[in-house]
Amino acid sequence: MAECIFCGILDGSIPSRKVYEDEETLAFLDVFPAVSGHTLVIPKKHSADIHSIDERSFVAVAKSAKKVADILTAKLGCDGISIFQMNREAGWQTVSHLHMHVIPRFNGDNLQKPWKVASATEESLETSHRRILS
Ligand code: ZN
Repeated sequence: MAECIFCGILDGSIPSRKVYEDEETLAFLDVFPAVSGHTLVIPKKHSADIHSIDERSFVAVAKSAKKVADILTAKLGCDGISIFQMNREAGWQTVSHLHMHVIPRFNGDNLQKPWKVASATEESLETSHRRILS
């Protein structure tokens, strides 16, 4: 059995419920869903995160996420879609095989934004901007 749980899903040693598949990606239902229909999209070539994945594979994952978003909207009649892509422990990544969460959203589904909306100060924006561009 593969050490990586998602590679295990790819080689068939771990069962999954496939939603979409193409040459470079697989999408399947998350077994720990935020809401019913929560789907994960992964590249078939193992990459730990956004820093190690090659650009072509990341684009393939993004294209599949769009297809899955359209499929979920058409089939489940959801009111919206939220997409998350988390990296490393500090970024809430729990499986070290890059994945995109495609979450069907329904009016009144009670999911909460992970951050509070608050205006930045001009000074903090300027400081961040300077650091990023330096
Ligand atoms: Zn893997």
